[in-house]
Amino acid sequence: MKDITVKAYAKINLAIDVLGKRPDGYHEILTVMQQVDLFDLVRVSLTEDNQDIKINLKSNLPFLPSDSRNIAYKAAELMIARYGNDIIGKSIINIDIKKKIPVAAGLAGGSADCAAVLHALNRLWDLNLNLDTLMRLGARLGADVPFCLAGQAALNEDLLLRREPLAGTCALASGIGEKLELVPPLKASVLLSKPPVSVSTAQVYAGLNLSEVKERPNIQELTNGLRENNYYKITKNMINVLENYSLKQYPIIMQTKERMTREGKAAKVLMSGSGPTVFGLFTSKSRGKTAFSKIKQMNHETFLTRLL
Ligand code: ATP
Repeated sequence: MKDITVKAYAKINLAIDVLGKRPDGYHEILTVMQQVDLFDLVRVSLTEDNQDIKINLKSNLPFLPSDSRNIAYKAAELMIARYGNDIIGKSIINIDIKKKIPVAAGLAGGSADCAAVLHALNRLWDLNLNLDTLMRLGARLGADVPFCLAGQAALNEDLLLRREPLAGTCALASGIGEKLELVPPLKASVLLSKPPVSVSTAQVYAGLNLSEVKERPNIQELTNGLRENNYYKITKNMINVLENYSLKQYPIIMQTKERMTREGKAAKVLMSGSGPTVFGLFTSKSRGKTAFSKIKQMNHETFLTRLL
């Protein structure tokens, strides 16, 4: 096999609780993440080259970096450092990213591209690494990368050669988000809307004052709700404590939440990750469609899709 295209899906967080700060500066969190049907296409191919191992990355977004500032490029560097010498000899790794997931949005777009490159090189080089090994590698590149690897393994055929117990589209994540336990996915239409501001995840965690947080999700009750298909337990605990900072800092996020609640009678409206994307869950697609046309006028980057 000389080339492969991976669908790199976005995620939303059904809830985020921040437990505290670790000595290394990262925050200990509990979150439930689920993949949504919005994806980047990541094509990875190998070209023979007599000189050296090289990485050649391009994307359809001119402002995205194409060097080691791009997390997908970093994934290729890590794979070369680990496995390059023995396996591939000299060749060029071409990475072509068609981005559809909004950037710096709280939807893990970069992490998804990174995971796609790890999966792709595992296949192209016939490394036959299992999902657990890929997830350990991915955790070194970003907290959301292991979840993206698990979701892609479930949603892309033929990425892995055997059935993997960790492949799935919805998971409880702990640690800094890298330790996963699969839970049954929620079924719903989802409206995603990214207000036109870019939010830095590091800034949100730094600015969050945990002592001011009044409402926190009961993650145990949420995962029980998913297992029992109990919508009341699920929606009651769909709380993202990072909203405490982001909503105050960026009023447009609050406005988007209010508009989505009002226009579409969403079952639940919440910010994803550290923002700014807001998502609404709809039990019927027609309600989602009504909200979509209204919200799209407000924020250009608005998508009606579904949970996976
Ligand atoms: P998360 O939910 O994991 O925090 P995010 O959706 O908030 O991620 P990304 O879209 O991953 O954020 O982008 C965060 C930053 O990373 C951006 O400023 C962007 O320039 C940079 N970046 C590096 N590589 C990529 C990539 N392949 N796709 C998108 N952004 C990238």
